[in-house]
Amino acid sequence: MMIHRLPSPANNTNHDDDVNVNKAKFSMATKESKLKRLERCAPKTSFMAWWKERCDLMKLSGGVDTTFICSICLDTIDRTDTIHGLKCNHAFHDKCLEQWFLRSHFHCPLCHRPFYGEPGARCYDTV
Ligand SMILES: [Zn+2]
Ligand SMILES: [Zn+2]
Repeated sequence: MMIHRLPSPANNTNHDDDVNVNKAKFSMATKESKLKRLERCAPKTSFMAWWKERCDLMKLSGGVDTTFICSICLDTIDRTDTIHGLKCNHAFHDKCLEQWFLRSHFHCPLCHRPFYGEPGARCYDTV
C-alpha cells in the first residue's frame, strides 16, 4: 500500500506570503501605469485653462459666472483648482477622477463615455 504525504503546512504558509508580496508590488505598478494612461487621455490642467479652451472650441461666450460642480464629490470646482478634463467636455477634480479611475471605472461618471474613445467620435454634443 502506498502512503502519499501531504505537503507540510509550513511550506504552504511561505508560498502564500510570496504570493501576497507579489500582489502588492503588482498593484502599485498598475496604479502608476493607470494614472499615466489617465494623464494621456485626460491631461491634468488648471480649470481656468481648460474652460477657456472649451469656450474657444464650442464658440461659447465665456460664462465666467457659471458655477461648476464636480459630480464625484459634489463640491464646487474653483477656477484655480487642478482638474482632469475629459474628451466629453466634463471636468472633475484631479484627485476625484483619479480615485474613480483607480476603482476600474474607465468611463465618464456623468455621461458614461469611455475615456479611451475612438478618434473621430462625436465629442462636443453635450456640455
Ligand atoms: Zn471632486
Ligand atoms: Zn462625460
